[in-house]
Amino acid sequence: MDTFENMEKTTSRLALTDYLVELLRKTPASIIDRVVYLIQGKLHPDYEGVELGLAERLATRAISLAAGMDISFIEQLYRKTGDLGDTVGKALQSRNQKISEKMTVERVYQTLDKTANCIGPGSQETKLKLVSSLLTDGSSRESRYIMKFIMGTLRLGIAEYTIIDALAVCFTDNKANRTVIQKAYNISSDLGTVAKILARDGLDSLKSLRVTLHKPIRPMLAERVRNAQEAIERLNGHSGAVEYKLDGERVQIHKGRNKVELFSRRLENITKHYPDVVEAIQKLKIGELILEAEIVAVNSQTNEFLPFQELMHRRRKHGIEQAVEGYPVVIYIFDILYLESKDLTSLPYLKRRAIIENIAIEQNFDMLALVHQKIVNNIEDLEKQMSRAIEIGCEGLMIKQPTSVYRAGAREFAWTKLKREYRSDLADTLDLVIVGALYGRGRRVGKYGAILLASYDADSDIFRSTCKVGTGFTDEHLDFFYKKLEEIQLPHRHPRVDTRMHMDVWFEPKIVIEVSASEITLSPSHPAGLGAIREKYGLALRFPKFTGRIREDKNPEDATAVAELVSMYKRQLRSVKKS
Ligand code: AMP
Repeated sequence: MDTFENMEKTTSRLALTDYLVELLRKTPASIIDRVVYLIQGKLHPDYEGVELGLAERLATRAISLAAGMDISFIEQLYRKTGDLGDTVGKALQSRNQKISEKMTVERVYQTLDKTANCIGPGSQETKLKLVSSLLTDGSSRESRYIMKFIMGTLRLGIAEYTIIDALAVCFTDNKANRTVIQKAYNISSDLGTVAKILARDGLDSLKSLRVTLHKPIRPMLAERVRNAQEAIERLNGHSGAVEYKLDGERVQIHKGRNKVELFSRRLENITKHYPDVVEAIQKLKIGELILEAEIVAVNSQTNEFLPFQELMHRRRKHGIEQAVEGYPVVIYIFDILYLESKDLTSLPYLKRRAIIENIAIEQNFDMLALVHQKIVNNIEDLEKQMSRAIEIGCEGLMIKQPTSVYRAGAREFAWTKLKREYRSDLADTLDLVIVGALYGRGRRVGKYGAILLASYDADSDIFRSTCKVGTGFTDEHLDFFYKKLEEIQLPHRHPRVDTRMHMDVWFEPKIVIEVSASEITLSPSHPAGLGAIREKYGLALRFPKFTGRIREDKNPEDATAVAELVSMYKRQLRSVKKS
């Protein structure tokens, strides 16, 4: 409990790792997976899609039962504290408590897991009983954390990156072993299980972990190139497999003998949104298969591609059948990672592609298609492909090294992306993470006036600020952000955020938005790329503008990297010198 309190208060990532190592050392191997999930704020890996789903009203009733206080009193307390965890903490302080059962991680986990799995008639009452009994038996400090966990407001600021560091130190006494742990995590997307194997069987067992059906593999990512020339240079004299970069949603399709599951780029289970895709995959005469594809919305009349925003209509909770009819899709396959018990990730890219082509020839592909690909080795041909891609509504091109293996979770030059130019002066838009905000004035009273954005520094796992953005927002956007950001508001700067700006409010780095800008300038006030160009100067965006696009498909770690910002600045410098 003390460790949790320390972690909640610290703004230093190093201290956070130390606290975590201390906690992991004390944890028996039999429950280490559960402890890892709990500190990540979840009960299971994301792809299992298990949510606690406790409504505020029910939580308030549970607190009232546990504290033996009237519900109206609890509601009043909640209005004051603004957080149900703090509410139960306060409510229980004044109680004369007789602890009937010792509060263990096992008990907390099992009770919450049972709560999450309660469905159907009478489930609300069962949930109420389970949660209130837990709160009754907990001390006020324990119950405060339990409630924060339940409501998703437990903000310990612990990223996967930090947990992996801590696991390496704790079980191997050597931080360098993080690469083995990271690799195991990349192919399983399940840090709890990885921790358990490490704690119980050691590092060597982790090395033999293999791709498993129905456990999503963390996606391989592309580096950005600025123009056709750079794309060709990055191929080091070899040809490239050049593909259209479709503007849809990336999906990892797992087909087993009994079920088909779809995972998003962020590894959420999105199967229920695409029953038509599941049906099409089920028809394939193949037992086991993992594919990667881009799902694209198309015009049912003309079969033309529609913009990404259209596809997002498919992500609704209700009325899925209508959405299937209203927004038809095509699945463009671009990779195969597993086939009939065989892991294909270490085959060269073109071999993997040939396997998909064979399947396509042998089977009725229906609403499935192959991503358009051409082998190219010179700038002219690449530019020709680019013009075609843009003409038919693609975002640009993906250029892949024909011999590259599939490296889960890696962003490397084995895959590069060449995006179309936008109308803004900077060649490309940037995807940045919201980390803080200033309250609005005048017309914007009661909303945010400006939002602080950060770019991701992968070397140190820190988000470093690069601009404040206040333009490009409609009234609807402003209302939306006010509500959405409230859920992830913090009383102080998040430990993974670096900035010299003073903000009215701070947020967990979670939401990624797209901005355009006129140029990148040297900045004494923003620490993104500090010292990379000039000592004591970072990089800032000039005239940043929200494009209207919230990148729900991106994790904060997928935001434009600080290194990308630095290379964009350098290129800009070169093009200014040339003209
Ligand atoms: P970005 O989101 O800008 O980092 O670009 C990478 C994304 O492009 C991937 O995650 C896919 O969703 C998408 N994409 C579109 N076409 C392809 C393709 N042919 N190969 C790989 N990824 C593609």
